[in-house]
Amino acid sequence: MSTLKINDLHVDVVTEAGSKEILRGIDLELNTNETHAIMGPNGSGKSTLAYALAGHPRYEVTGGTVTLDGEDVLAMSVDERAKAGIFLAMQYPVEVPGVTVTNFLRTAKTAVDGEAPKLRTWTKELSASMKNLRMDPEFASRNVNEGFSGGEKKRHEILQLQMLKPLFAVLDETDSGLDVDALRIVSEGVNKAKEETGLGVMLITHYTRILNYITPDRVHVLVNGRVAESGGPELADRLEAEGYDRFLVEA
Ligand code: ADP
Ligand code: MG
Ligand code: MG
Repeated sequence: MSTLKINDLHVDVVTEAGSKEILRGIDLELNTNETHAIMGPNGSGKSTLAYALAGHPRYEVTGGTVTLDGEDVLAMSVDERAKAGIFLAMQYPVEVPGVTVTNFLRTAKTAVDGEAPKLRTWTKELSASMKNLRMDPEFASRNVNEGFSGGEKKRHEILQLQMLKPLFAVLDETDSGLDVDALRIVSEGVNKAKEETGLGVMLITHYTRILNYITPDRVHVLVNGRVAESGGPELADRLEAEGYDRFLVEA
């Protein structure tokens, strides 16, 4: 078992106008084989948490620690985080001109593992994953993110996840803009990765809809840069029924 541990994390967002504290002391502990849903109203700092974990330069950690099995994640470069086994979808460029999905995935896999995957098994696995995600085989020869629809981007994200086999994945609003069929396929892809490799998932979402397909072990409600409440899956049901008003009033 591996553990990703976030302790009293404080993060500022840095803009031209100066910096502003967004995360004000986050504590979270995620083990492999667990799914934690991070929920909360718009602007509560969910994406800031994802960006800070990704090492995005705009998001400055001003206090606290993030460790993976005791190793200091915040001291790692973006590449080192990936090598250590943390998958952050948003670390990848929006468009990679002239680089096909196949080559991109193989290059990423080689970088993460430190050696190229065996071509035969790799090719087989890639087509099996694509089939499971109901992706057209032609998709593999398209350029990364060039003209991808919202749904294709998400499927590509999950395809990366299945091929790279990280210990942990931080998925920010993977459910946004997906129709019900795509949502189900993408969710099945996440569940499959969890079953096959014991993936630990930080599932960031505003809506409870995706939690009908991916059952979280823990639910954390982020409000105003802090975890306002944590609970089991029943907390998501409560949020579905009551919304975030209760937390906003308290904040
Ligand atoms: P969420 O993902 O929960 O909707 P965010 O983390 O995106 O929330 O945003 C939290 C707060 O930080 C918001 O008030 C938002 O306006 C601000 N913020 C986040 N990123 C930036 C940025 N790059 N520039 C300016 N403000 C930002
Ligand atoms: Mg604090
Ligand atoms: Mg967000």
